[in-house]
Amino acid sequence: MKPPQPRFLACAPAEAAERMVAGSTFDRSCAQCRARVMIAPSGRAALARTPETVVICYDCAIAQMAATGQGTIELAAPAAEIAREIRTTQPNTWRKRN
Ligand SMILES: [Zn+2]
Repeated sequence: MKPPQPRFLACAPAEAAERMVAGSTFDRSCAQCRARVMIAPSGRAALARTPETVVICYDCAIAQMAATGQGTIELAAPAAEIAREIRTTQPNTWRKRN
């Protein structure tokens, strides 16, 4: 039997994202490159439901899928919730800290 596929949460790198969803947190890092990532409330809720999920940045997620030719993408929350988050983004305050 094949071991279960790990589940990843692909997140925007905190320094690169120009905008953020209100209530996003910046306390986690990419499991591969260690870049600090931004996790929106929908992602935080998904992590709370499945804590074994591996946090990874978009760049590493895309590179991994390209390298392996495997991986599917699903939304971390119902589409309407993701759409609401996208519609209400604000400038990324993390970038101005530094
Ligand atoms: Zn990464």
